[in-house]
Amino acid sequence: MNAADQSRRLLERHFGFREFLEGQERVIRAILDGDDTVVIMPTGGGKSLCYQLPALALEGITVVVSPLIALMKDQVDGLVEKNVPATFINSSLSQSEMDERIADMKRGKHRLVYIAPERFKSERFVAALSPLTIALFAVDEAHCISQWGHDFRPDYLRLKWALKDLGQPQVVALTATATPEVRADIIEQLALGKFGRSEPSVFVTGFARHNLTLAVANVAGKADKLARIGELIRELKTGIIYCATRKNVEKVAAALPFKCALYHAGLTDEQRKKAQDRFMTGKADVVVATNAFGMGIDRADLRFVIHYDIPGSVEAYYQEAGRAGRDGEPSRCELLFNYADVRTQEFFIEGANPTRDVIASLYHALRRLCARAPIEMSIDDIAGQLPVAPNPMSVGSALYQLERAGFISRDYRQGSRTYTTRLVEPVKEFADLPIDFEKLDAKRERDLGKLHRMIAYADHRGCRHEFVLKYFGDDEAAPRCAVCDNCLAHVSSDRRLPNDEETVSIQKVLSCVARVNGRFGRGRIVQTLVGSRSKDVLDVGLDRLTTYGMLRDLGEDYVWALLNELIKAGCIEVSAGQYPTLSLTPLGRDVMVKKQAIPLTLPERAASQKRPTKDKSRPTLRVGETDYDAKLFDALRDWRREKAGAIGIPAYLIYPDRTLQELARVKPRSEAELLEVKGIGPAKARQFGAETLAIILDAT
Ligand code: ADP
Ligand code: ZN
Repeated sequence: MNAADQSRRLLERHFGFREFLEGQERVIRAILDGDDTVVIMPTGGGKSLCYQLPALALEGITVVVSPLIALMKDQVDGLVEKNVPATFINSSLSQSEMDERIADMKRGKHRLVYIAPERFKSERFVAALSPLTIALFAVDEAHCISQWGHDFRPDYLRLKWALKDLGQPQVVALTATATPEVRADIIEQLALGKFGRSEPSVFVTGFARHNLTLAVANVAGKADKLARIGELIRELKTGIIYCATRKNVEKVAAALPFKCALYHAGLTDEQRKKAQDRFMTGKADVVVATNAFGMGIDRADLRFVIHYDIPGSVEAYYQEAGRAGRDGEPSRCELLFNYADVRTQEFFIEGANPTRDVIASLYHALRRLCARAPIEMSIDDIAGQLPVAPNPMSVGSALYQLERAGFISRDYRQGSRTYTTRLVEPVKEFADLPIDFEKLDAKRERDLGKLHRMIAYADHRGCRHEFVLKYFGDDEAAPRCAVCDNCLAHVSSDRRLPNDEETVSIQKVLSCVARVNGRFGRGRIVQTLVGSRSKDVLDVGLDRLTTYGMLRDLGEDYVWALLNELIKAGCIEVSAGQYPTLSLTPLGRDVMVKKQAIPLTLPERAASQKRPTKDKSRPTLRVGETDYDAKLFDALRDWRREKAGAIGIPAYLIYPDRTLQELARVKPRSEAELLEVKGIGPAKARQFGAETLAIILDAT
């Protein structure tokens, strides 16, 4: 039985599922192949199965590091129920219970063990584990290792050393946080792909939510927003309205002519619990909330999520909006956008990331205020003592920095708004404070950058689903969007599926774009396709492309129109900047290899331009010395040389000759066929597949 069949059997037998969720099978295959693996899937995407199933197939025990200690017991009970022998180790156990469990593990009683991250602080504990054969070391919520993440946990930094002591077992790291910095940090901090293993496989998958209609309403002001919310509630009944501030929550809830629950961090625990209960049990169908609302909401039948204010990042937006339609039914996610609201988010960012000036001015004020004795003041009062009134939130953050740097210490009394603040002796000079201002500045820039991406989402004219998937780097899921406001607006009656001849033309345009990916703009591409002899084309050698002149018969106007339509349809992306260049999108790649057909507004052809039927001269196969298409082999080799030069690696690292010959023999026509070729795995296919297929398509 091969590995794929075995995985399916385990899936059915132990987990009771018939099919894998999106991405799971690929991840599991990579793990079973022995790769270090990074898995980025949204919450609810089915991450646990990605290590639980391999745990059953691999020799040895699978260690799972998870910070969710409260859930460990439930997770283990769930596994045991499914006949997966598992246990956990955290601080709720006594030493003797712990010893007993470790002894059980040594006897091979368990396939999985969940371990709380702080356990790895103890050298003794790590030493006790080290005789075990660890098949797989799974790091759940792996973003906790990154200081760029939203949930940094210093205990995670020790994992690197624990892994060393445990003999560098294979690692899978899993998280729902997808920013590139966090991803890079995970790979770096866990030393993935080191110690003789190949480059880690990184999977970003499962972010597509086709039942959600993503929309942005440009609104003039509050009255407009409230009116729009009223319409949506009347039509869709059940959902969440997110606001950026507590004040807005109160205002919106008061202004709506509907009974809604209200939720923010300023309420008492009891009030919050009551609001959540009312909403979860269906006594209230609408909740107005800040982003404090959401953890652990599993009401699946929400038909809308409205954002009254723009959130600070696309991650935050998509996570909140994604609470709609958990049951898979069509649901609406609408952002009410007014550019003035951006100011609130900028204010938050400034508040969370104080400048050097604010910190310095606070430093000098405190030296003066606390010179004789500790002070008892609120943050607002301290802010009032500064020469230039800053954002009060940033004073709070600056106080925190000064406390961390060992300049002051603070005591907070329960129920009081004031702190006792005192200088730490000996009093440090400002220049000696261990505060990394560069890092603070960098973080502020990054936060602002995230906000700008969110604004770009609001302003986006193309497909919003595609925008989001691209943001998360989930390029496996080609968007099949008919459900965002922009796509819906483009659906016009004259769109239709292309006929065979048109399909070939479309493939040729796309393959030409794939060949020069990101190097040229529209003009050169059209000129290349129609076989122009212009200097622009000849000077850069575009006439040597196999697509050169391929659409000569269709005429320049037609090719222009077709190219523009493919851009509009999201098959081709235009870069920003002074000299916009074209590249293929994942959708474009699918269309090119005929994995997907999409309706388009196709240009009319003038009668005089009808293509004369000519026999398609196929390149001849030179049989004898070789059993592959030598012309195609040459074309592939030329491409490989260019490519290797462009990315600065030796040619054989792209594909060895053997693989080129195989390609020239088998001539794969789709990604699936490509993956069948020896020497081409998912990573290669992702990196070079589109271009490879384009060449094969051109040449045959
Ligand atoms: P995550 O850790 O990514 O948030 P979980 O691993 O908790 O997600 O899985 C989310 C839900 O999906 C769970 O209820 C799980 O049982 C279910 N699930 C996982 N894999 C499958 C599958 N192949 N088919 C159906 N349901 C699945
Ligand atoms: Zn769309």
